[in-house]
Amino acid sequence: MKALRTCREIAALISEREDRTLKLSERAVIRVHVFICRRCTAWEKHVKFMRQGMNAWKNYRGD
Ligand SMILES: [Zn+2]
Repeated sequence: MKALRTCREIAALISEREDRTLKLSERAVIRVHVFICRRCTAWEKHVKFMRQGMNAWKNYRGD
């Protein structure tokens, strides 16, 4: 497995992380990449923010 991935692949993995449990190697790849790449750090934050928004929406709907 390649240690370095393109931003496109990392962004896809970060999105998938919300839907499935990633392999340990996949999580490691994200962590290393995010450490050196500002763009993917921003994307990760964005995905986390969106998920929080989704959860808030789900809670709202559940009431
Ligand atoms: Zn990147």
